[in-house]
Amino acid sequence: MQYRLLTNMSYKLFIPGPIAVSDKTLRAMAQPMIGHRSPDFVALYQSIQPDLQALFYTQDPVYLSTSSGWGFMEGSLRNLVQKKVLCCMNGAFSDKWIDVAQRCGIAAGALKFEWGQPIDPETLRTELATGQYDAVTLIHNETSCGCVSDLPALAAVLRQFPDVISIIDTVSSFSAMPIKKDELGIDIMLTGSQKALALPPGLSLISPSKRALARAALSKTRGYYFDLIEFQKNHEAGMTPSTPVIPLIYALKSKLADIKAEGADVRYARHARLNQTMRSWAFAKGFTLFPKEGHGSVSLNCFANTLKVDLSALNKILKSKHGLVIDGGYGKLKGLTFRISNMGDETDETIAALIQSLDSALAELGVK
Ligand SMILES: *Cc1c(COP(=O)(O)O)cnc(C)c1O
Repeated sequence: MQYRLLTNMSYKLFIPGPIAVSDKTLRAMAQPMIGHRSPDFVALYQSIQPDLQALFYTQDPVYLSTSSGWGFMEGSLRNLVQKKVLCCMNGAFSDKWIDVAQRCGIAAGALKFEWGQPIDPETLRTELATGQYDAVTLIHNETSCGCVSDLPALAAVLRQFPDVISIIDTVSSFSAMPIKKDELGIDIMLTGSQKALALPPGLSLISPSKRALARAALSKTRGYYFDLIEFQKNHEAGMTPSTPVIPLIYALKSKLADIKAEGADVRYARHARLNQTMRSWAFAKGFTLFPKEGHGSVSLNCFANTLKVDLSALNKILKSKHGLVIDGGYGKLKGLTFRISNMGDETDETIAALIQSLDSALAELGVK
């Protein structure tokens, strides 16, 4: 079978995105095209809405855009910021967001924390109390340093500022842990396809609150491609504004069926368990967790390279002899940390096999 051949020729990704895509998902993509204005597309689009809303824990619509996460991350700013946005920063992706705002000509303030430290709710409250801001960007799970912030506590602060629109990136935590959009009062919750959803890259998902849409309607700088009002109009007709990446929507439908069959709660528990298995292994070796204690991500681990392992040599062995790849540290953390994803379809068996490979490759480098 061709898919087998393709996957056998490559190697398995344990980097925190893109992650490995199952054969079932790949096969789901290989279907004939349908017109994006046809009743068949409308049926496809509408058939996945209830399952998407269940995973977003929302009554609001979920739009699909043909872009990676940054598309809607930039688009949200263009649609929603009229005064000034406060960008919460504690890693590479959140650091970048303020740069994106400035490149769009949007006034932005920085709320900075060290990489690996969570966003502090009290500091956020103090800054918002200045009254300068009408929007906040926040990354729930900072993938670059494996750090998760306390979203319920942060959302409680945000709810005290009804004029501030909350834009929450859940790119690497969505579907790996419950994120209850409506209960938390989140205005914009967005994610991408190639992280915990275990789809190929190219699809971004966003759910806006009514408040967010009302704000967007007042904006003159929405642009075209990520205009939320266009998305809403098309959504009401079961479509997207422009031609979407239909194969990825087939894949999404297949994945939503997988998640339903497993059960979301079982899926969350599986992520937590496998994440803990990786930690136990690393701690026994003598590695430590990079992010602040109690704020390690559940969908990946970012370990401090306390044993000073040559990570590029390690990855060379892993790739050539074991057919897998981990991450050797993001940006300024390159060489100082390594990241291992447990997102998507991993099981006790695949994680056990990964650990066996890691042990063998480390032994080859003289690390016991
Ligand atoms: C991967 C990722 C993104 C989006 O990156 P794209 O390259 O646009 O997919 C955004 N935020 C976080 C936290 C991420 O992990």
